[in-house]
Amino acid sequence: MMELRREANTDKLSGLLNRHGFDHALQTLRDAERDKDEPIALVIADLDHFKRINDTFGHGVGDAVIAAFGCVVRDTLYDRWIAARFGGEEFSILMYGVTIPEAYGICEKIRKNFETHCRDNMSGRLRATVSIGLTPGALSSDIKRLYTEADSALYEAKRAGRNNVKIHVIDENVEGFLSRKSESCLRRVVS
Ligand code: GH3
Ligand code: MG
Ligand code: MG
Repeated sequence: MMELRREANTDKLSGLLNRHGFDHALQTLRDAERDKDEPIALVIADLDHFKRINDTFGHGVGDAVIAAFGCVVRDTLYDRWIAARFGGEEFSILMYGVTIPEAYGICEKIRKNFETHCRDNMSGRLRATVSIGLTPGALSSDIKRLYTEADSALYEAKRAGRNNVKIHVIDENVEGFLSRKSESCLRRVVS
């Protein structure tokens, strides 16, 4: 049964969760966590000019690039964070118990690691990059609103030339709240 459930929640190509798995993991996290104000960061990542990669190198190479992104994400994130492929070349990550500057740093790491990984491991002429949008929230936040915000940050990242990370603009109070909470949260994530 466990194996069946794992399969139903997993995206085979990337090795990350699928959308159903993401929703399920988020619900489990919400049920388990008593502090509904726990800060989170919602991230949407979209591979750049992916159609061009498919058109130039073939669908099989495109698939290998999606798998490579899955590997990089799994290598960069803490186990407890939730990462999924939402279809096509779009991914969503929910980071938990981090400040926004920390979440931004991790997104930058994913972006750079992905670029380097593809440059070093894929066909000579292939250049693959990713654009990332990030928004802060709390565990109890309306997830649809966070998607919309992360999506508009992603749009800004694409507009700014791709291969970069943008944060959805937030007001100062939220920022202060997030940084005050950061120390205890981080300790919990690491331990
Ligand atoms: P942008 O930088 O603006 O995101 O451009 P893009 O080319 O990445 O975006 P677009 O939405 O135009 O193209 C996405 C492409 O992803 C089109 C589709 O054929 C391809 N695609 C979707 N799912 C898969 C998949 O599972 N495997 C492969 N190889 N390609 C896929
Ligand atoms: Mg794309
Ligand atoms: Mg896309």
